[in-house]
Amino acid sequence: MDSRYNKISEALSNKFKNIVGENYFFDDYEIRYSYAFGCSIFNKDWIPDLIIVPQNTKQISEILKLANDNKIPITPRGSGTSLSSGSLSSYGGIILDVSQMNKVLKIDIENNFVEVEPGVICDELNEILKPYGYFFPPDPGSSSVATIGGMVANNAGGIQAFKYGVTKNYVMYLEAVLSNGRVLNLGSKVLKSVSSYNIKDLFIGSEGTLGVITKIGLRIRPLPKARKLGLFIFENIENLTNAVLELRRSGIIPNLLEFMDKIVLKAVTEYLGGEFFDFPSGYVLLAEVDGNSEIEVNEEFAVMFDVIIQKNPKFHRIAMNDEERDRLILARKANLPALSRIRPNTCVEDCTIQISEFPDVIKKIEEIPKNINAKNLLVAIICHMEGNLHPTFLFNENDENDVKDFEKAIDYLYREIIIPAGGTLTGEHGIGKIKTPYLELEHGSDVIEIMVQIKRLFDPNMILNPGIGKGDTRSLNINNQMRTLENQSESILELKCMRCGFCISCPSRIDFYLETYSPRGRLSLLNGLVHGDLELNDFIIEVLHTCTLCGLCQTKCPAGVNTIEIFEKAREIIHNK
Ligand SMILES: Cc1cc2nc3c(=O)[nH]c(=O)nc-3n(C[C@H](O)[C@H](O)[C@H](O)COP(=O)(O)OP(=O)(O)OC[C@H]3O[C@@H](n4cnc5c(N)ncnc54)[C@H](O)[C@@H]3O)c2cc1C
Repeated sequence: MDSRYNKISEALSNKFKNIVGENYFFDDYEIRYSYAFGCSIFNKDWIPDLIIVPQNTKQISEILKLANDNKIPITPRGSGTSLSSGSLSSYGGIILDVSQMNKVLKIDIENNFVEVEPGVICDELNEILKPYGYFFPPDPGSSSVATIGGMVANNAGGIQAFKYGVTKNYVMYLEAVLSNGRVLNLGSKVLKSVSSYNIKDLFIGSEGTLGVITKIGLRIRPLPKARKLGLFIFENIENLTNAVLELRRSGIIPNLLEFMDKIVLKAVTEYLGGEFFDFPSGYVLLAEVDGNSEIEVNEEFAVMFDVIIQKNPKFHRIAMNDEERDRLILARKANLPALSRIRPNTCVEDCTIQISEFPDVIKKIEEIPKNINAKNLLVAIICHMEGNLHPTFLFNENDENDVKDFEKAIDYLYREIIIPAGGTLTGEHGIGKIKTPYLELEHGSDVIEIMVQIKRLFDPNMILNPGIGKGDTRSLNINNQMRTLENQSESILELKCMRCGFCISCPSRIDFYLETYSPRGRLSLLNGLVHGDLELNDFIIEVLHTCTLCGLCQTKCPAGVNTIEIFEKAREIIHNK
């Protein structure tokens, strides 16, 4: 426990419980333990002291005031799909799970906006908007589970950012609660306003460090009436880059322009099979245009196709119908978890460069394992072609050398490649708890000082998501704190789960509204049992038996984790005991 924070006494704990009621307050070790896992590097010491599931802004305001008065850290959490440990509680304290504040409060088609609570899931919002002929364009790979609150806090992008931009382009107004419990209303419903400093935008991408977002007004757009997607495979990266540069000069703005390297293509082929087996190995460019009519889209696609084809891709495939399009899009959206098929651990990095640097940077990233002399480390690369790269490291956390190599690789990536290329440390996943050591390298000390001042203005006691580098220059020691497993061969767990959370729409998680009751949560508990962090007890037995073995999680899992078999086996072991 950091000396700036206090322990939660029993009396204080009861005060928190009184705010939300006992059904939404949890101090059981097993539940807290399941919240120490997220879709990122796992640190088993980051176990929160309490999980609180608030139902409204008033409760959040009271919780924050009480926490602030008593110097207790608070980490807001949506679906816990942050790829930078953003929603893990590195200093303990309270995880504020806002996923149950999930109502769409207003749909105003005339003025093109919706008002939502932070726990609304991105894809679910779009399903609701579809009958109105509207959509909310930011479209992260995790859109099936990401909450709007998490998207605003991270300024999430996605696969359509090339044309439609990122979350901040759609946030009209916010309600946010400050650490002292005050509720702020920021931004406005009108299209233009310069009547205040742009405080609203400070909250977008603030990663839960300035306040808890409790209501969001989002701009929406009419759905395009037509779209056309092509997949192109190139032998060499220069030709692919030239195709993109030429496209930008042509004035065509694809709604989707995405890159996958050979390793990613291989993983996706293993996941989806079928027509993917016909695709040759190479660098993939996925490109789509959309618009208001078939004619307009066909014309634009023809221009785009000509531009790309002149750069000599060795293969191309055009999606002839929605079904074919959905398969190709799935290949892109599921590619991170699909990579878990290659090595047990998939750690995704996030950085942005100018697109003209692309071929050079890709080559340097490909050479990282060789340059740091890492034997088992693989690097796969995904990129949103506005220059937002996701170098993805594949390794085995059971192997101490792999872990060390992975840490060296990240260091090399930012110090030797991205910052010297004039790039930025994160385009959409956030600084999180991993990149603080590199912040000054990018911004210099003057900017860091101003960030600290801004943080202190909103959160003088530094209780809000401590450990995130923005405004909190303390460097968390994350080195060598990853879980290393012994006796892997005896484990019932398949370790290829990257904890992406695609499985958390599980019916029992919806009923019990806690991470613990999701397939990912159950795997966390099993992990704890296998490694001696947890002891089998009635509670764990109950959690394992609330799974109905319906298999939904397995259909959602691109990594192919055999959850049914694992849970059945776990139950069998328990029964035999
Ligand atoms: C397979 C996969 C693909 C992904 N693809 C993309 C992608 O294409 N583009 C992209 O941008 N991201 C991507 N992500 C990252 C992540 O899914 C997004 O950042 C998403 O927006 C996080 O939403 P969440 O609900 O899971 O938030 P969490 O992970 O729960 O939280 C994220 C951050 O927001 C803070 N936070 C959450 N809710 C609130 C709130 N109400 N108020 C204040 N702070 C809050 C948390 O403290 C944390 O710092 C991907 C993740 C996965 C697993």
